[in-house]
Amino acid sequence: MRILLSNDDGYLAPGIKTLFAALQAWQGQREVVMVAPDRNRSAASNSLTLENPLRIQQVAPNIYSVNGTPTDCVHLGINGAIDFQADMVISGINAGANMGDDVLYSGTVAAATEGRFLGKPAIAISLCGEHHFDSAAHWLIPILEQLERVPMEASTILNINVPDRPLEAIRGVRVTRLGRRHQSEPVVCDRDPRGLPIYWIGPAGDAADNAEGTDFHAVAQGYVSVTPLQIDLTHHRMLEHLQTWLTPL
Ligand code: MN
Repeated sequence: MRILLSNDDGYLAPGIKTLFAALQAWQGQREVVMVAPDRNRSAASNSLTLENPLRIQQVAPNIYSVNGTPTDCVHLGINGAIDFQADMVISGINAGANMGDDVLYSGTVAAATEGRFLGKPAIAISLCGEHHFDSAAHWLIPILEQLERVPMEASTILNINVPDRPLEAIRGVRVTRLGRRHQSEPVVCDRDPRGLPIYWIGPAGDAADNAEGTDFHAVAQGYVSVTPLQIDLTHHRMLEHLQTWLTPL
């Protein structure tokens, strides 16, 4: 298995470094190539850079940085910018959870999504904190081994969230659905040195739907959360109603 590894925190982030090392230690017959942003591009979602040229720089053996988004990185990594034929895409380990509504904004999930769009099995993995990246890397390996034994349906992206705990304090793994967050906190207003207002996007809201069965619930209980994602935004239940609603036209 040849793995393309990316993230949204940048190629120097501790999460991707931990995972790159863990995958190299595990790989055996497998090969791992990292193509990741040259800086933190968290919350970049699925953006592609179309107005500026992209540059790719090899910074170490099998490690490339790109002056673009996570989606750019996976796009370049798979579509011919480097001499590597990836079999799958892994994104992470993100510093911070990607649960519930987060997945719409997440660059971590977006990198996996791009892999999926380009025909590769894809996994996004996030640590719900910034300390125990080793725990997340440790739990990913058996999931990869299972994926090698039994491939996933082609349209599926696995979104994994790992509690920020030492390995021995993680209780197991749970299959989950996405929960939901409350609206994010208000924007934070400040003044620049010339007295003009500047704004910071406020922090994400707390969990609004953290019922049993959600990613929020599993992580709070100390379990690794694995959510199967699909990219079909069609509101299927509304199709018939909309047809009726539009009939007068
Ligand atoms: Mn991030």
